[in-house]
Amino acid sequence: MTSLVYINGEANRPMPLLDPTGEIDSDRPAPVPRVPGTPKAQRRDLARWKAITARDTSQDGKFVYGVRSTGIFCRPSCPSRKPRQDGVVFFSETGMALRAGFRPCLRCRPLQRDAHSELVERLCRHIASHVEEPESLEALGSREGLSPFHLQRVFKRITGLTPREYGDACRVARLKARLQAGQSVTEALYGAGYGSSSRLYERSSSRLGMTPATYGRRGLGACINYEVADCCLGKVLVAATASGLCSLQFGDSERCLVASLKGEYAAAKLLRNPKALAPCLQQIQAYLTGSRRNVDLPLDIRATAFQWRVWNHLKAIPEGAVQTYSEVAEALSRPRAARAVARACASNQVAVAIPCHRVIRADGGLGGYRWGLSRKERLLDSERARTSGKSA
Ligand SMILES: [Zn+2]
Repeated sequence: MTSLVYINGEANRPMPLLDPTGEIDSDRPAPVPRVPGTPKAQRRDLARWKAITARDTSQDGKFVYGVRSTGIFCRPSCPSRKPRQDGVVFFSETGMALRAGFRPCLRCRPLQRDAHSELVERLCRHIASHVEEPESLEALGSREGLSPFHLQRVFKRITGLTPREYGDACRVARLKARLQAGQSVTEALYGAGYGSSSRLYERSSSRLGMTPATYGRRGLGACINYEVADCCLGKVLVAATASGLCSLQFGDSERCLVASLKGEYAAAKLLRNPKALAPCLQQIQAYLTGSRRNVDLPLDIRATAFQWRVWNHLKAIPEGAVQTYSEVAEALSRPRAARAVARACASNQVAVAIPCHRVIRADGGLGGYRWGLSRKERLLDSERARTSGKSA
C-alpha cells in the first residue's frame, strides 16, 4: 500500500509564471521580479506584464491574466486595481484560465463576447461558488431557462469546457491553494469541496497526479500499525504499513497526533501496535539521543517525481550539515525552484527519516518546519554539537 499523496503538480506542470504562491518562506530576498522559464518566455511575460500595467487594449484577445489572490482572470486592459506582479499568472487563452479554476472578471468580461457570454459568465460564477454541491445540468439549465443539452453546448462553445469540467477545475484550484497554504490533505480536501464522495476524488485524481486506489480511498484496505512514545522533542508518532514507514510526526499531545493520523487514514485499519513499531522507535530514539547519525527506515510514501528528487537529495545531506533551499534547487538543476523545494520540505510526512530539517534559508534563518521551528532548532543544534565534537 502506498500511503501518501502530495499535490503540488511539480511533476506534470511547468513552474507557474512569476511563482505565485508566496506562502512559504523562500530564502530569496525577492527584490527583483522573478520570471522563471526560457528567456523567450521571460521576455513574453515581461511584455505581457507591461501591457497589463499600461492597460493596453491592443493586447485584448491575445492573452488573459489570472490573479491568484482573487481567483479571477482579466483582459490586459481591465480597469480594475493592478495586481502584484508576483501574484499574476498568464494564459494564452481563456480556456486555459478556466481550466486552472479562475473565474471571469465582472468588469472586463474576458470571455469571448457574443449573445451568450453574459449567461456563461453568470454560470461560471455560480459553479465556482457552489463547488461543494455541484448542480446538475438540469438545475443549471433551469436557472437560465435552457435545456440541459443547450446549456452544455453554449457553455462549451464559449469556454471550451463542460460545466462539470469547469466545476472540477475550480475544486482542484481550491485544493491546491489550501495545500500550499499549509493545510493537511484531509482538511484541504474537505475545505475544497471534496466532501466524502470517492467519485469526486477519483475524478480529480488524474489531473492531480493522485492515485485513487491509495489516497482517494484514504488507506482503504490497508493495515497501518502505529505507536506513540515520549522523546526529547515531546511526543513522537510512528505509523507503518507492511512495506514501510508512512508517517513520523512530532507533537505535544498524543491525542492530537493519533486524531490526525486517523483523519489522514480514515478508511484504513489502524492498530496501535507497540511491538511492531518497537524497532522503528528504537532507531528514532537512538538518532535523537545521538548514538545514530541518521534514521534509515524503509518508507511507504507517495510523492510527485519532483518531491522524490528533493527528498532523495535531502537524504544525502549528512548529519550536522545544512543546505539552503536554493542550494537544493541548484543541485537538482532547477535553480529557480527554491520555493518548490520549500514546499516539498513542508510536505514531508516522515520527520527526520527524510531530514528536511537540514534545509534552511540563505540568510541563515531557519525557514519553516511543519513540526515547529523550535524542534528544527533543537535537531540542528544537537547535530552540530555532535559533529563538531567528533571532528575536534
Ligand atoms: Zn477584469
